[in-house]
Amino acid sequence: MKADTLAIHGGFAGDNETGATAVPIWQTVSYAYKTAQELADIFGGKAPGYIYTRIANPTTAALEARLTQLEDGIGCIATSSGMAAIASVVMSLARAGDEIIAATGIFGGTVSLFENTLGRFDVKTTLVDVADTNNFENAINNKTKLIFIETIGNPRMDVPDIPAIAEIAHKANIPLVVDNTVTTPFLIRPVDFGADIVVHSTSKFINGHGTAIGGAIIDTGNYDWRKGAFDDIKKLSERVGQLAFLAYLRNVIYRDLGGCPAPMNSFLMLQGLETLPGRMVKHGENARKLAQFLKAQPKVSWVNYPGFTDSKFSDRVAKLFDGRGGGLLTFGLGDKKRAFRFIDSLKLAKNLANLGDAKTLVIHPASTIFHEFSPDEQKSMGVSDDMIRVSVGIEDFEDIRADFQQAIERTFKETK
Ligand SMILES: *Cc1c(COP(=O)(O)O)cnc(C)c1O
Repeated sequence: MKADTLAIHGGFAGDNETGATAVPIWQTVSYAYKTAQELADIFGGKAPGYIYTRIANPTTAALEARLTQLEDGIGCIATSSGMAAIASVVMSLARAGDEIIAATGIFGGTVSLFENTLGRFDVKTTLVDVADTNNFENAINNKTKLIFIETIGNPRMDVPDIPAIAEIAHKANIPLVVDNTVTTPFLIRPVDFGADIVVHSTSKFINGHGTAIGGAIIDTGNYDWRKGAFDDIKKLSERVGQLAFLAYLRNVIYRDLGGCPAPMNSFLMLQGLETLPGRMVKHGENARKLAQFLKAQPKVSWVNYPGFTDSKFSDRVAKLFDGRGGGLLTFGLGDKKRAFRFIDSLKLAKNLANLGDAKTLVIHPASTIFHEFSPDEQKSMGVSDDMIRVSVGIEDFEDIRADFQQAIERTFKETK
């Protein structure tokens, strides 16, 4: 089946008993078995079966199966949030003394996780600029355990050369982890460009309606865990082969950290996936039109939209996303005061910390998501004081344009 069909039918063929077509919400903690031996066999890995929802749940399993199909992977683990997904991946691959290479200009929460929280456990992160792919090769040493990039860096909008980075990673036998939150499988399937592990914050475009927090980890099957530098996973691969990473994750790290999703939230993600293909088309169309509109405004200092043909990364956008720029853009009005005035003047667009909602959303990154970083750090992360990030929704474009136009007019009327 094609991706648009899988988004609707993947992972669930209907309920035989009742004929229900929606995935049931298995709102249960645990699963009872008739005999002590049955449960013992499941615990011992000798028989399949659900044990406890922190480890697996049938509603969540349907979501995992659908995401596996959409990302063309070998398996998936859904998590309680995007951060739980990223934290679980790193905790599975790195131990104290190990190092991570990550792209600059990625999501602030991920940078904080890597530098602050994982830093406390003696895992060191080196941030490198994706503009020059050689930076990745130069940063690798014998302690490097993973390379982490976003398909489009949020909020710097940098686009890494994914296949070239994958080649560098694989030459050094290091897995490449790609955060596909901002683009989703409907702009790019990172597996096709060499990614080994794909992570998502499903809270964003996949949920699509701002109703639930969630995340996911997909093993694409590209990395050979039998030859990897990860002892626990390598050992497990003797028994379960290529599924060793996911098995280690589910039965150790994910189980121990407790980052499982609520079944209700898995249901909301499944529902979101059904309309994701159509929504991504409209997000992209509206974002492109809004970027063009803003670029034509004399009062707008700058616009950063990866879908512009004169963007710094247009070659990579053409190669990786077929020229589509996604639903996010950033722009500036010259200073922070104007940015605040502009946001305060909007009537339709919401000022909040989220993206990928059906609604148009804005935020001033420097004073919110990135407030804990110093001005110098913010600069290196591509966050300027006048930056406004827009997650362009799927409303009628004319209504979005009118809202932005009146807000720009009010901003400059009041600052004069
Ligand atoms: C939001 C986001 C995350 C974190 O996801 P949560 O679901 O909020 O924990 C990670 N990566 C990217 C690119 C994001 O936008």
